[in-house]
Formats: sequence, C-alpha cells, structure tokens
Amino acid sequence: MQSAVDACPGMITLHPARDGDVARIRLPGGYVTARQWVAVGALAREFGDGNVDITARGNVQVRGLRPGTCAPLASRAARLGLLPSGSHDRARNITASPLAGLGRPSLRGMVRSLDAAIVAEPVLAALPGRFLFAVDDGTGGAALARSDVGLRRIGSRTQLFIAGQFAGLRLPVQAAAVSAAIDAARAAVGLGVGTSASRIRDLPGGGRAVAAVIGLAVGPSAPPDDGRLPLGVSGFAGRDVLVAGARLGRLSAAQVTLTGSLLRRGDMLRLATAGRIVIPLSAAPAVAAGILADAGLLTSDDDPMAGVGACSGMACSRSLSDVRAAARPLPGYARTHWAGCARGCGAPNDADLVIATGPDSFQIGGQPADAALAGAS
Ligand code: SF4
Repeated sequence: MQSAVDACPGMITLHPARDGDVARIRLPGGYVTARQWVAVGALAREFGDGNVDITARGNVQVRGLRPGTCAPLASRAARLGLLPSGSHDRARNITASPLAGLGRPSLRGMVRSLDAAIVAEPVLAALPGRFLFAVDDGTGGAALARSDVGLRRIGSRTQLFIAGQFAGLRLPVQAAAVSAAIDAARAAVGLGVGTSASRIRDLPGGGRAVAAVIGLAVGPSAPPDDGRLPLGVSGFAGRDVLVAGARLGRLSAAQVTLTGSLLRRGDMLRLATAGRIVIPLSAAPAVAAGILADAGLLTSDDDPMAGVGACSGMACSRSLSDVRAAARPLPGYARTHWAGCARGCGAPNDADLVIATGPDSFQIGGQPADAALAGAS
C-alpha cells in the first residue's frame, strides 16, 4: 500500500493509473546487463502494454499491468536479480555517474556494496521511494546536489554528502564510505524520513540534523549537476560508446531488445536522466547509430526532440492534458519537460517545466506559455 510520504511504485507496491497498474524496477546506478534488459522488455510485453519507460533516476517502469500480475511479475524480476528484497523494494534508489568505468575507474563495486548494505539493514526498509543515494566519480550526472545521501570519489578517497552538502568525511576505504552512508540513512529514518517526511531536506533541521546524529557537520554544497548526456558516439580509452535517447523517455519492447543487442559482451548498459542509454558498443559506431536511428531512437542532439521530455500524460489520472501528444520543441527553451499537472513527475534537473493547466493550456515558470506555443512548429 502507498503511504502519504511514499507514492512511488515498486514491484510489490504498484501505482494505479488509467491504463492499468504501473511497476517500477530499481536498477541501482542505472546498470543493467543485456540479459536483464532484454528480460525487462519481455516482462513489459507479457504483463503490460509492451513499453518500458526510463525514469529520471535511471530506473525503469512497466505499465498497463493487468490485475493479478503483481506476484508473477515480482517473482520473474526476483529470478533475474532485479528484486533482491521485497521489504526494501522501494529503498534501492541509487544513481551513479553514467560515464564512470568508461576510460576511468568503475563505480560498479561501490554501487553494488551500497545496494547490498541498504538491503541488509532492516531499518532502511522504511526509506521512501523518493529518498535518493547518489554515487559520483567527479564526472557528475548522479544528481549528487539533489541527493539525500551521497558518496563522491575523488582520487583514492570518498567524500560523504548529506542532503547535497559535504559532511566533512573523506574516507580512504570503500567499505568505510558505504558504512558512513548507511549510518546517515539510518539517522534520517530515526528523525522521521519514511514517517513524517520523504526527503532529508523536509525534516526539521534537514541535513544539519542528520549529520549531527552521527557526529558530523555539513558544509559546502555539492556542485550543481550537469544534467543530461550529449547524444552520439564517443571514444573512451579505445572503447566506442553510443549515448542514445528514448523519445519522451519511452522504449518499445523491440527497441529494448535492439539496444541490448548492441551492447559489448560482458559490459553493462547505463540508464541515465532524460531517457539516455549509454551503450558500450559491440558494433561499429556508425552502424550502431544508424540501426538505432532507423528504429526511432534519438542518436543526435540535432534531433529536435533531443531536448523534449514528458510525463506519462493521460495514462495518469491527474493529467489535465495529453502532454505526450503536445510535447514539442519550444522556441527559446532548449530543454523542456511536459507535465500533465503541477507535480512535474520525471522532470530532469536541466529542463524547463511545461505544466498543463487545462487540455490545451500550459505554463512555463508560472507564466502562461501562449507566446512560446504560438511560435512552436
Ligand atoms: S506530472 Fe501529474 S499528470 Fe504527470 S504523471 Fe505526475 S501526477 Fe500524473
């Protein structure tokens, strides 16, 4: 059942929508193997409407689920290693710098350790789905500044952040850093996260209060996040990597299979904000980009839709407008996220929010968007 401080779906607690139930599958760090990825597409086809949505935190959602599918869906996900704990289903929210491990040290070990430590701590089953752990390697993209508990690796040391502020610890050992992150999360639960608040910043005293419980003090804020990855092919230490994008954050099951087929053997996909999919390639870069462009994915920032996103629109009972049909580039706004109501679900950090106020009326920055819409093609 969803609580007042946790409306986020999971695999055990689904979210009801106009088109059926929605399940969210957590992918800590945004990492997913080819086998898991293709299986996610198969789950969407078998149990839902056949589409896979990539969330702003690099998790995935399947929707249009029919009544009675929760148990078989969860059981299949568990067999794939995508649901290691029913009790901690919605607590495993971990973002990571999506380019880590590509020409620089990997964060996968740290993400895996943190995930295992969250699941091993019974108290942390209370963490709401909005609570965020971030693991950053200095290249950004993990939303460290907007996280509740963050770890940033700088050289051989790892810094602890609480509510986006440096908490004074620089730890030389990964295990100690993970342990400090768990201590901070446990302190947050003790102060009311999961019962009276969903984020540390919403607690009385915020990050300062959480830090004090574990004998620390918060200082400077993390650098602001640099948002979405550029689309296209890059080389990282001799490895070709394609960053592709899901249009309005959504992939068909066929597109899921196709992206998985291009992943270099033994590597992992990384899912990131604004529907970005980082694919270490098995195929020649131009060929891979051509295949995905032909299949309807975004492969270049020259595509007019590269900066456009949308929430689930009319599938959500709160939506005032069919924002997925309305979403388009707006003159004067390089990046927009179209939302069916003021909640603004799924908005990337780097986008201007276009909020529906009626079936054909929108606001940007609190102002009527009529002029921008009039100029849109
Ligand atoms: S922004 Fe509003 S309409 Fe869109 S998914 Fe969220 S609650 Fe629903």
